[in-house]
Order: sequence, then C-alpha cells, then structure tokens
Amino acid sequence: MTDEPPRVQSEGGARSLSRRDALQRLAFAVAAASGSRGRGATAAAAFAEETPATPLGDLGMPLSAEQRQAGAAFVERHVTVDVHCHPGRFFLSRLPRQTAMTRALGPPFETQAIADLNAGRVSAALFAGVADMQLLELSAQGIHAARQFAPGEAYADYQRQIAGLKRLVADHEALAGRTPRDVRRAARLERTAAVFAIEGGDFIEDRLDRIHAAFGDGVRAITLVHYHVNQIGDVQTETAVHGGLTPLGRTIVREMNAAGIIIDLAHATLAVTRDVIDASERPVIVSHTNLVRPGVEHPRLISAEHARLVSTAGGVIGSWPSGIGQQSLGDYIDSILRLVDAVGVGHVAVGTDMDANYRPVFTSYRDWSLLPAALLARGLDEAAVARIMGGNFMRVFQENLAAARARSPA
Ligand SMILES: [Zn+2]
Ligand SMILES: [Zn+2]
Repeated sequence: MTDEPPRVQSEGGARSLSRRDALQRLAFAVAAASGSRGRGATAAAAFAEETPATPLGDLGMPLSAEQRQAGAAFVERHVTVDVHCHPGRFFLSRLPRQTAMTRALGPPFETQAIADLNAGRVSAALFAGVADMQLLELSAQGIHAARQFAPGEAYADYQRQIAGLKRLVADHEALAGRTPRDVRRAARLERTAAVFAIEGGDFIEDRLDRIHAAFGDGVRAITLVHYHVNQIGDVQTETAVHGGLTPLGRTIVREMNAAGIIIDLAHATLAVTRDVIDASERPVIVSHTNLVRPGVEHPRLISAEHARLVSTAGGVIGSWPSGIGQQSLGDYIDSILRLVDAVGVGHVAVGTDMDANYRPVFTSYRDWSLLPAALLARGLDEAAVARIMGGNFMRVFQENLAAARARSPA
C-alpha cells in the first residue's frame, strides 16, 4: 500500500502515456485526494492507456537483447514469486462505501492485472488485502488512520476482501496458491497462483479463532501492522504507542505459528521486529522495504541491523521498487544487491507492492523477466537469482506450513 503522499511529477507534453506516466498521474490523484471525482477518473483513464513494455532506454542500466533473452529463459525454468502486491487493487472491489482515498484510487482492474501476471510468468504472487483501508486518509504528513474501527468493522471488511480473492480463484482467473505444491503447479501450467495475504492484523481483533479461520480461507501471510496503530504493535510511520509488540500481539504471533501463517513485519518498528523474532518459532518475512543509506532515509526503510535480525532468524526481506532513492529499474536492482550484501543471497526476495506502490520503478508484470535478466547481468549466478526470485520465499512458505501439516495431514 502506498507509503506517503507522492510529490507532483512534472509531465512532458501531450504524447501518449507510458505506464510510468500513468502511475505518476495516479500518484498525483492520490496526492490531491480531497474527494475530487475528476482526478480519480483521470488516473483510471490513464491506466487504460498503458503501453505494453518498458522501453530499453528507461531501465537505467545497460541490458542487451541477449541479456533480456536470458531473463525470459530464466522465468521459464524457475518458480518465481512476488512476495507482496495488490494486483489490480482488488481490495477496492465491491466497497460498501467510498472514502476520499478509495475514490482517488479509482475502480479495481483485477482481470487486467492477472493477465499481466500470467503473461510475465510470475508463478505466484501474494495478493494482499488492505486491512485498514476504510480508516486511511492522505494528508500533507502522509497516510494515517483518520479514525478507529467500530467493533466488528475490520472483520467485515476482511470478509469482503477475501470474498473477492475467492471469486478470482473460483472464476479461474488466478490459480489457488495454498501450498508450495500449488505454486509449482502454476509454474508448470504457465499461470499465476494467488497466495492470499492481508496487510494489517486489525481484523483479528482479540479473536484467536479468526487466525485459524483465515488459514481456512487460504490466507498464508499476514502483515501484522500497516498504517493504523492496531492491537498488535507499533508502526514505522507513527510515534510508538505500545513500545513494541503488545501482550496480545505476542499471543497472535504464537497462534499464527500454530496455524501455519507467515508473519510479515513490513511496516513494523524495530522494537516490534525484535519482539516478534523472540516470540516466533518460524521464520518471518519483511515483504517490502529496503536498507536506509546515507542520503536515503525514510521511516519505511530499515537499518542493516534490523535486516540481520530477520535474516539470522531464517527470515526473508522483500526488496521494494518504491522510488524511494530509486529513479529507474537499475536503481531497484542496486537496492536488491545492497540487501544481498547485508544479509546474504538466501534471505532476499522481490516484493513489488504492485498497483498500490508509491513512485514505482517497476510498473508491469509483463516486464517481470527483466528482473532476473538484470540480476544475471550484474553478475549473480543462476542459483542465486533463483533464490531471490522465488526460492527463498518457497522455503519460508514450506517451513511455516510444516506446523499446520503436522496437525492435519490433508
Ligand atoms: Zn502493500
Ligand atoms: Zn505496505
């Protein structure tokens, strides 16, 4: 989910829109979200005019035709996974009521997004619902929760979003992604498996049974916190309230372990991360972030120390093409490689935040093979790229499911 108010981008003339232009217009629309229908409609129209491929000159790094071909061959041979995304902003489907922010985002377009995932040969994507969507408001200070949930409201909105995900699978748009085997099957069929995820544990409230219900619904990862400071712990973008993980949050962590649901610590503070790693018996992920570095500091980025807490506990960090300290796909590849240097190749993944990202430098799944192409071009070997592009996530997926499997062999 978008991480701060996008700055207005300068636009060059009235030529047909590139995908990046379209996203910048969307960013503009979000920035201007004051309930104006007109801007939301402009953003939606901009998406409809997308062009099919990123021109070579936009990449910010040299990539020959042969190197691009190596990327295309790579995605035919390997299971690849996007560990955090919101394809087509499915979470806006069948909204009970609009807010200024949902209005600015415009209507969802899941069918187009899934066609792009299939075309890009993405074996699996973690389709993340947005738990606190109904609370969020954009101001000059960024995205914040404008109010608290009424009792039961968060769970009702969870059920709406899960119903939308189930429809996508029932209608055979996306394949089921409940197990690593499902993901490998999708890869064989040249299709995309939807691994259900929720960004924000708000819907759990204090009901541990909802964690098991979520597993039954197919949810395989929950980002404990998002923008709203919830019952579980503190968030990176607000002043600390709890001082880390709450006692209820600790219980929720143990229950997620028991259920077999992956804990995602994106948006969580360092204190929450420490507390969760202390409590969790299974490896966690931080699905979309990058390392801070001199001149590139942002509340949503993490220190090398923070990253190593996650990796030494067996966890995986998804590198995020957010445009924070990045101007191009080449800059995003640099972000991935900095994480590899900090935590090792066995602990890095790709988390695009597609379709609800900030100022994305990776904008279409049809370009998915450019990521392995660029990593190979930067000198990583095929085995290393295979781990980053999906293997590391598949390990964590398997290790978290082992708990659930032990209880029910189905
Ligand atoms: Zn997100
Ligand atoms: Zn996010």
